[in-house]
Amino acid sequence: CKGFEVRHLVKQYANADKPVLNDISFKVEHGTVLVVLGPSGSGKSTLLRTIAGLEPIQGGTISINDQVIDEGRPGTEKAGRSNRSSALRTRIGMVFQSYDLFPNKTVLGNITMAPLLVQKRDKAQVEAEALKLLDRVGLADRKDAWPHELSGGQRQRVAICRALILHPEVLLLDEITAALDPEMVREVLDVVLELAKAGQTMLIVTHEMQFARAIADHVILLDGGHIVEESHDAYAFFA
Ligand code: ADP
Ligand code: ADP
Repeated sequence: CKGFEVRHLVKQYANADKPVLNDISFKVEHGTVLVVLGPSGSGKSTLLRTIAGLEPIQGGTISINDQVIDEGRPGTEKAGRSNRSSALRTRIGMVFQSYDLFPNKTVLGNITMAPLLVQKRDKAQVEAEALKLLDRVGLADRKDAWPHELSGGQRQRVAICRALILHPEVLLLDEITAALDPEMVREVLDVVLELAKAGQTMLIVTHEMQFARAIADHVILLDGGHIVEESHDAYAFFA
């Protein structure tokens, strides 16, 4: 399938007596948005972190466009992260609830760091692209600001730019507005809605139910290590 797929994924933490995710399977078509719901502790963050390659998996596969990027191996509970190559790692981007920006780098420096250092891309080209992204999220005039000079909502919009500049095929958003003051939630969610309209494939964990209903093409509900509900009609699901 063109898009993103998880098959029979099993994730167990070291010292836990059973998996936190057990036989999870779903597909996300290219250009669509999956919203992941579930009670606190149901494994939503863990699911996104395994997909991002930040956690090893013990069973199943994670694929993009039918290419397996991660394969479960039993006995890897204690490994720090998956053994995915850095080229595969950049195909999936992630923004966290409070992913602090590098405090000693400007907005522009934060966004251009990975493409310059890790991907060795051309500086002028990367900076031009960063400015375009900042313009897209309404922050073109803050390119030289330091992180501590920004509001939480502005910082999250910069964090989104930092993920997008790596051209991820899939973008993972884990509760990115949960730590924000209410008046800043809208400006961040509006950016995400624009990304969805532009065809960015995304997996989103959020407690903003109006937003979830508006953006989801597909919803899964996790509980007890399993998908307990799944819908391709978000409008009906949230009704
Ligand atoms: P959610 O995002 O749905 O709240 P989490 O993925 O954060 O759920 O957590 C799922 C379960 O896994 C919880 O029981 C949590 O305590 C446990 N857990 C999360 N991270 C770790 C970890 N690093 N080590 C051990 N257990 C963890
Ligand atoms: P969330 O529900 O948003 O994931 P948590 O408060 O559950 O937030 O977890 C915060 C951090 O603590 C995460 O990095 C998670 O992996 C880690 N964590 C959660 N539960 C455990 C646990 N039982 N053992 C070790 N680390 C954990």
